[in-house]
Amino acid sequence: MYSKQRFIIFFLILISLLSGDISAQNTHLLTAHKNPKIQERLAVERKKMRASIKKEFVATLKKVVSKAHRSSEKKRSKKKKKQTRRQTSSPHEINVYKKGLLKWPIDHKKFWVSSYYGPRVLKGRKGFHQGIDMAARRGTKVTAAGQGRVVKAGYYPGYGKCIVLKHFNGLKTRYAHLNSIKVHVGQQVAAKKLIGTVGTTGHVAKSKSGISASHLHFEVYNNGRRVNPVPFLA
Ligand SMILES: [Zn+2]
Repeated sequence: MYSKQRFIIFFLILISLLSGDISAQNTHLLTAHKNPKIQERLAVERKKMRASIKKEFVATLKKVVSKAHRSSEKKRSKKKKKQTRRQTSSPHEINVYKKGLLKWPIDHKKFWVSSYYGPRVLKGRKGFHQGIDMAARRGTKVTAAGQGRVVKAGYYPGYGKCIVLKHFNGLKTRYAHLNSIKVHVGQQVAAKKLIGTVGTTGHVAKSKSGISASHLHFEVYNNGRRVNPVPFLA
């Protein structure tokens, strides 16, 4: 934005200098004319011309500056709006209607939770686990945690084969490390509908025996932020 502005100002200065040059050349040509009346008239015209150029230059400069000011103000107000939105809808404040709104994405007889949401240490490094890991055999059915629309379905580094569903009430769910994906972007899905199968795609830690531990990494977004999925599940 600023470089564009600078360019416009530079261009305007160039034009004003050039027009000054041209008028100087003209006067040089015309000073050959010795008539003092014409000389006087020329001087007046020259003055007028310079004044009009100056006026135009100042007017354009004002326009450019006010435009830049307006756009920066717009940006500031946008930022403020975003901040207030964040303050009014804290992701960790769970609306009473959202509690237990989502269904566990794997049949309760076929998985065990191998890692919960929260801070954890992996290979000696401190980290934060943004979802819950549900260990299950490769190929176990993964179902939609709630009614919604598929907004992502594909391979993502780290997540591997991954699906993101958008539900109502500002909720989103993510299903990662899948072995297969059974839905496509834009598709509407009902709660409990089969969407994929458990796998080991993406970044999955190996077990002591060296086998990649197949599991579903499940995340819940509340108003755009990842939160502890457990209170939402029933
Ligand atoms: Zn995980």
